Amino acid sequence: MLMSNIDTEVLAVDAIHPEIAKIERAAALIRSGEVVVFPTETVYGLGADALKPRAVKRIFIAKGRPLSDPLIVHIADERALAELVADIPVQVHQLVRAFWPGPLTLILPRRPLVPALVTAGLNTVAVRIPRHPVALALIRAAGTPIAAPSANRFMHVSPTTAQHALADLNGRVPLILDSGPCEVGVESTVLDLCSTVPTILRPGGVGLEELRAVLPDVRLPLQEKNNVQRVDNACLEAQRAPGQLLTHYAPTVPLLLFEGTLEEMHAAMLAEVRRRSERRERVGILVADEDVATFQDSGAMVHTLGSAAAPEQVAAALFAGLRALETAGIEVILCRGFDEYGLGRAIRDRLLRAAAGKVFKHPHLP
Ligand code: AMP
Ligand code: MG
Repeated sequence: MLMSNIDTEVLAVDAIHPEIAKIERAAALIRSGEVVVFPTETVYGLGADALKPRAVKRIFIAKGRPLSDPLIVHIADERALAELVADIPVQVHQLVRAFWPGPLTLILPRRPLVPALVTAGLNTVAVRIPRHPVALALIRAAGTPIAAPSANRFMHVSPTTAQHALADLNGRVPLILDSGPCEVGVESTVLDLCSTVPTILRPGGVGLEELRAVLPDVRLPLQEKNNVQRVDNACLEAQRAPGQLLTHYAPTVPLLLFEGTLEEMHAAMLAEVRRRSERRERVGILVADEDVATFQDSGAMVHTLGSAAAPEQVAAALFAGLRALETAGIEVILCRGFDEYGLGRAIRDRLLRAAAGKVFKHPHLP
């Protein structure tokens, strides 16, 4: 794609009290129709003025993202919603009170003001108020809603630090605001309020249980279970087959996801490390603190994501862990599974995508 190589500046911005002059520089770029990378509480975003199709087009070009993939519009206060959304269902107010600003994106009917490029031609629009002070300050200073997908190249893992964004977008964006690592670490929950029953299109930073406490009829899409294939023996190399349904969030290295009890996961993973080490493959292991002792003498490179009992730690460390193993020259990543509760649902969703939908279970299991 045509793209002149521009200088990318990384500008450190205080995460709690963003410096006004720095925010103003980024806002001026947004107002002039440019793109800017900025931190949110979920992941780093690649933002542009959501109301200017020419600006939004630059997002797709910088990411290499197909135009068929709609963007999330970020606003700074609830009043902006009326500008973008044709019809505000009653549940919105309860959800907004409970979760905004925060990692919940709502799919709502769009007003014609929202360019078709933002919504991939759909008559709905995805909107959220982020809670990161830098994101909020930028939207306010720009004086316009900001359309922003994650600031990674298309199909790569989302960035949770400015350095990740730089690794993917260096020379393709003028400015990256650097406020350190993102607090949540996985993307927002996308909730569709235009379907008959409110449906989670993407699990994320707000858990299903939290949502149901406010809207009891929230459901997960029915096809979720059909996307998972169970495989008994990792050695089948099935992982090399490209995933057809679950292709997002992929690291550039194949990932094998193991599930079962702790003992079963450990046994299956150790067996797999042994098999691959015999073939001189460089194996990376993505685990929790509780597993480190089991693998420390295995010969594999071990990377821990924090305690398995603290999904917020694992979520915050997940994408950085995938990138760390990728850049360490690992040829295959073996990853343990995590419980699907709270943020655990988003963690499992991202791992399943990275694993192209395949889960390895211990061969002795039914
Ligand atoms: P990203 O910007 O990379 O975080 O991805 C945005 C997510 O929101 C994707 O999963 C999109 O498919 C979803 N999304 C955005 N707009 C819409 C919409 N109008 N209807 C359904 N999903 C949407
Ligand atoms: Mg993305």
